[in-house]
Amino acid sequence: MRREPHVIDLPKKIIVGMNVLWEIPKVIQELRLGKKVLIITGPNVWGLVGNTVEEMMSSSNVIYEVSKVSRPTLSEAEALHEVLNKFLPDVIIGLGGGKPIDIAKYLSASSGIPFVSVPTTSSHDGVASPFASLRGGGKITSVPAKPPVAIIADLNIIALAPSRVIKAGAGDLIAKFTAVLDWRLAHRLKGEYYGDYSAQLALLSAKHVVNSSDLISKLSVEGVRVIVEGLISSSVAMCIAGSSRPASGSEHLFSHALDFIANYPALHGEQVGVGTIMMSYLHGMEWRRIKRVLRRIGLPTTAKELGVKDVDVINALTMAHKIRTERYTILGESGLTYEAAEKLAKETEVID
Ligand SMILES: [Zn+2]
Repeated sequence: MRREPHVIDLPKKIIVGMNVLWEIPKVIQELRLGKKVLIITGPNVWGLVGNTVEEMMSSSNVIYEVSKVSRPTLSEAEALHEVLNKFLPDVIIGLGGGKPIDIAKYLSASSGIPFVSVPTTSSHDGVASPFASLRGGGKITSVPAKPPVAIIADLNIIALAPSRVIKAGAGDLIAKFTAVLDWRLAHRLKGEYYGDYSAQLALLSAKHVVNSSDLISKLSVEGVRVIVEGLISSSVAMCIAGSSRPASGSEHLFSHALDFIANYPALHGEQVGVGTIMMSYLHGMEWRRIKRVLRRIGLPTTAKELGVKDVDVINALTMAHKIRTERYTILGESGLTYEAAEKLAKETEVID
């Protein structure tokens, strides 16, 4: 049987540590990325680290320009093409949480210019994944992109984020338990490609969160490091798999559905955490254990804690299978009925 070659693109350099923001110019030089740098960032992040970045850029001999983005939309990303064509950068830096990085990733993919990911939050694993998710036309589009050539994660900056934001990343990592089960199911039932190595790598970061839940709940530097390293390793698992399969399954579909129904009610990682409780019940996994770990960390486990109505959770469960029809999961092709969804949410005590 003829098989397509499986090509893996990986980041060349990953730096995680205290005060590593200052490594940016050195990394650009070491990887011979060029002299003209376009920094894509958000207004809040720039307010926080802008001075430091300007200082380090000026003292190294790079030419740089800064573009601030506030919404992760396709139109905002498209508008930046003009800046790209005028400035003609050698390298793009995505500096911030999800939005600037998703936009940098998208621009990098469409222009072929390499990009460096400098995450300032640990709320989800998009910070280094080879996919850009952008909003537009009433839906989220996941655009295949190249992974960053380098990832520079400064724990000092990431630790400044509100505790909720930091902990949300742990929820996004716990999700790998059900994401991998969904992937295996799609392999068995639909003949989809499955790679056990990348699946194990994704699971490893979820297990690491379980084993380090006390450290994470205290938000010690080591706890933050567990989350950040887990998010990077989950991104690498996606690079190896060539899809987001090892990182995203039915629990993510539930979260996306909830975003549409309740207009982004809580953080991504918080929502997928609750989704993981319910989907692990459907998979016949120890859902109580998942719930206990989320509680121990201080993440939401109920509709109330997510700030949504019970009926929103039920409706999200019934429409989750329609979010990405090509992504086969435990929800099947016809999804859950209202009654089944209600029963699931009640059994797992997500709703009263
Ligand atoms: Zn996620």
